[in-house]
Amino acid sequence: MKISDFKHSCSPEHAVKFQSWIASRGGVANWKSQEIGGSQQSWSTPATIRLGDCDTAPSFVLTKPICPQCKIPIRQEGAQPGQVLLHCTACSQDFKANDVLVDYPEPNWRCGKVPPTIITDAKDICVIVDKEIDRFEGTNLNCRRVQDAISHNGPDTYAQFDSRTDEIVVFTPEKLVPLNEWGAE
Ligand SMILES: [Zn+2]
Repeated sequence: MKISDFKHSCSPEHAVKFQSWIASRGGVANWKSQEIGGSQQSWSTPATIRLGDCDTAPSFVLTKPICPQCKIPIRQEGAQPGQVLLHCTACSQDFKANDVLVDYPEPNWRCGKVPPTIITDAKDICVIVDKEIDRFEGTNLNCRRVQDAISHNGPDTYAQFDSRTDEIVVFTPEKLVPLNEWGAE
């Protein structure tokens, strides 16, 4: 089992949150930076958000409201000022905008308007459990000793500055747990 066998990965602290996004928010959206020459940075959000929770209400043209019951796209029916109602033809119910899920808006400008990869199956995400393998004094992540420790321990080894001890700590994956099995052990 390798990290590259999965579509996405997360740390243990995000595992329960990701499970809940898959269960009730339409999945985990993985956004990648579109900045030219920029970093390979990425961000994870739920795939959907309640219209009532949006900071700025996204336009109905750009988003696709989904029936909370049928989980299919629904349309806006004759909005009155201050009270947008959405009607689902499948279950013949009206919903207040606050109760309706829409696509999650891009979390920042670096993501552009490119749709994220949506992961809806917990089997496609691995939880990476790291272990500490080394510790150095200093602040320079690029120094020779740190880079040697990283290159000797495989491609997923990384270093992080620990501000509590003023040390550089090197971590490497200890085990990978598919998200659908996380918490079941
Ligand atoms: Zn419906």
